[in-house]
Amino acid sequence: MDHAAPDRARSGPEDGSGPQRVANDAEGMELALAEAHAALAEDEVPVGAVVVLDGLVLARGHNRTRALCDPTAHAEVLALRRAAEVAGVGRLVGATVYTTVEPCFMCAGALSHARVARVVWAVRDPKFGGAVSLGAVLTDPRMNHRCQIAEGERADEVRALLRGFFEDKRRKARDNTNTPGQA
Ligand SMILES: [Zn+2]
Repeated sequence: MDHAAPDRARSGPEDGSGPQRVANDAEGMELALAEAHAALAEDEVPVGAVVVLDGLVLARGHNRTRALCDPTAHAEVLALRRAAEVAGVGRLVGATVYTTVEPCFMCAGALSHARVARVVWAVRDPKFGGAVSLGAVLTDPRMNHRCQIAEGERADEVRALLRGFFEDKRRKARDNTNTPGQA
């Protein structure tokens, strides 16, 4: 029985056919990419995440900072919250999280607190990335918990999605500036 409210990340497939199976990184990233497209359709920064435990999808989520007026409503955080709720536990020991973009410091911290075993992302984030680009929250040996990491799966598609989103935003901003009486 799924009583998911609109502010929640979703779990399982839409058709109620039970938990979705993920056999490998390609399949995990495919689902994360679908979530990123869902974010794009809602005019949110297109980032998606999926939490997998024992080969089954626990939860999926996408960035919803605008819709929820919540700067912490990143794909990974929403997916982690939903996954923990579904699993009925406070930690997701052994889980793998697929996310289209390298986790920021906040999300990397949340992934570490959740004790996930492995984090896989498609592209790095040179401006916010807390996993490898600007910090090593997931792998620093001083951390209480460390995750395995992997990257690069579906990178070209994720990069194109992000580029298209931000180019569109810049074009709209420019058009508004150029419209008489709008400046
Ligand atoms: Zn984040």
